[in-house]
Amino acid sequence: MTTIAFIGLGIMGSPMAVHLVRAGHSVAGYNRSPEKAKALTEAGGRAAASIADAVTGAEVVALMVPDSPDVQDVLTGDGGVFAHAAPGTLIIDFSTIRPDVTRELAEEAGRRGLRYLDAPVSGGEAGARDAALSIMVGGDAAAFEAAKPIFDVVGRTVVHVGPSGAGQTVKAANQLMVAAHLEALAEAVVFLRAYGVDLEAALEVLGGGLAGSAVLTQKRANMIDHSFEPGFRIALHHKDMGIVTSAAREAGVVLPLGALVAQLVAAANANGDGGLDHSALLRGVERLSGTS
Ligand code: NAP
Repeated sequence: MTTIAFIGLGIMGSPMAVHLVRAGHSVAGYNRSPEKAKALTEAGGRAAASIADAVTGAEVVALMVPDSPDVQDVLTGDGGVFAHAAPGTLIIDFSTIRPDVTRELAEEAGRRGLRYLDAPVSGGEAGARDAALSIMVGGDAAAFEAAKPIFDVVGRTVVHVGPSGAGQTVKAANQLMVAAHLEALAEAVVFLRAYGVDLEAALEVLGGGLAGSAVLTQKRANMIDHSFEPGFRIALHHKDMGIVTSAAREAGVVLPLGALVAQLVAAANANGDGGLDHSALLRGVERLSGTS
């Protein structure tokens, strides 16, 4: 049994923290708006009053917050994790953030005698709920081995992909691929509807062939029902397309499709769809086609 502080109990963090409690760990969860700790406390975890309260006495500190500045705040801010974690504490950042920010934070953690892994996840809300996430881990191999039992509680495919920041780089590639798949699916849906094809039948047969994908399986109902409750918010995918396009630019590689899809995600965000699930890229294709 490990004593775990879990910071950020949103769409992903809440079910992950609940799984850790159910696996027998002692979990103190902290969320900025306290009502989101309800599922955790109902499962037998503790709602901490502050980051300091959650972190004091914890062997592992897990984070699941939206963006790079949020992780920086939680770790380095007044009353943050770095100020309160005991030397040797293992920090696991499950959030999707910039690889360069991750490397800086990991170096700072190391200077303070803390261990640090970047461990962004893929699999969406369903993956978190079903403890079936794909977890791409960057950092020291010994820290990875120490964290593996925790990863195995919330994930199904857990891979150490390299040194600090490598997990975030792999996640950026993941987000590029997911956005492109979603955009292609949205365009196929608008195309099929234009010809009056039965969408249920079409997506069923497409799912059994080479066009089948986890994106199609998980987002098919959203597309058919035109229901875009998140899930994964467009605003977060917009953040991730910014990460992948700027990291590609720094590396001097060219992602033409990624650049176009990033613009389409940006357009969805600019048209007020940031709070909707990323399957709402469909609304963007409909706007462009005059069928919205
Ligand atoms: P979310 O539902 O918005 O949850 C984020 C949580 O972080 C919220 O509970 C929020 O608290 C808290 N938070 C935000 N800013 C904070 C700050 N500055 N300090 C402290 N707490 C803060 O987001 P999510 O969908 O769980 O996503 C979390 C991360 O997972 C993101 O990096 C996202 O890209 C990644 N991710 C998401 C999915 C998905 O399908 N949703 C899949 C894979 C990866 P409040 O309640 O007070 O706002």
